[in-house]
Amino acid sequence: MTRPAGVARALPPPRADLGLREGYHSAQVPVEVRLNTNESPYPPPPEWLEALLAEARDIAFNRYPDRSATDLREALGRLHGVPAQQVFVANGSNEVLQCLCLAYGGPGRKAAMFEPTYALHAHIAHLTGTEIAAGRRRPDFSLDAAAAVGLVEEQRPSIVFLCSPNNPTGLAEDAATVSSVVAATDGLVVVDEAYGQFASWSALALVAEDVPLVVVRTYSKTWSMAGLRLGYLIGPSEVVTALERVALPYHLDSLKQAAGRLALQFSDQMERRVAAVLGERERLVAALSAMPVKVWPSQANFVLWRPLERVGQEVWQGLVARSVLVRDTSSWPGLEGCLRTTVGTPDENDRFLSALAEVLA
Ligand code: PMP
Repeated sequence: MTRPAGVARALPPPRADLGLREGYHSAQVPVEVRLNTNESPYPPPPEWLEALLAEARDIAFNRYPDRSATDLREALGRLHGVPAQQVFVANGSNEVLQCLCLAYGGPGRKAAMFEPTYALHAHIAHLTGTEIAAGRRRPDFSLDAAAAVGLVEEQRPSIVFLCSPNNPTGLAEDAATVSSVVAATDGLVVVDEAYGQFASWSALALVAEDVPLVVVRTYSKTWSMAGLRLGYLIGPSEVVTALERVALPYHLDSLKQAAGRLALQFSDQMERRVAAVLGERERLVAALSAMPVKVWPSQANFVLWRPLERVGQEVWQGLVARSVLVRDTSSWPGLEGCLRTTVGTPDENDRFLSALAEVLA
């Protein structure tokens, strides 16, 4: 094939501000024990897969999916006791967050968040041209409600991100803090509950048509379905309508809609998995507490800790050398020297603890 003359030249540069911020990626090192991305260590129920395969035969793949994902939203609505109009679904909760920033953020608007917190809140805000108003947590990573209210009153953000339990620190916000932020803001409060089912409190109880608050959840952690890429939001129907305007048409494929709906029939099994993770989390915390490390209390499926006598990054390397991968958060602002371990199966946690004992010895 001959190329027309004059087509080969330097490619146009992408948006100049994209280079400012690194993407959010955890190292994918080939190891035997992967405790770095807060997935469930257990596969989904085999009965769910059987049901999905049976239903897949009846899907009309030549047709576009149900654009409004009615059956899935109704099923999620039944789970949470709200009508389908108060449910928005997307490809992972990250896409829900992106739709929120597209609909409520953008140029000339601000998103508030309290660092250290989930890096994608700032990242997605940035990508959507939303200005970032970053507050800080206390040294123990709890959120000072008065300081949060102060920031919101001063900056007047259109979106306030709260993360409960907070990734990567593990603490859940309390009801009073969330309520005072809702009372103080004229924007939308987004409570990211990716780890909500591991915590003792949920902001779902606050959701109402006339309250500017939404709760974001995911199938990636408790439902053991990170590979499915499915997340959702519960909130006022007016917000759901706004999000539908920014989502791409037919963004949720037919197979995923069926998979998400069928998963809800297995909530007993999901709860058993959550209970197993909670038991192991307490065992991990107790074991770490007996080592020369500082451990933060966790309401999630991960634990944040910091070696007291060793450099965090070296400890991370030592674990990788023993085929155990945890999240290296040691260079993140406010998390100097810290590492985060996802709760795994009992065997994986044993492997982690014995590798760590060796590294620290
Ligand atoms: N929110 C928080 C706080 C998270 O930690 C994560 C996953 N790392 C997500 C949202 C995104 O989850 P997903 O897109 O898999 O639903």
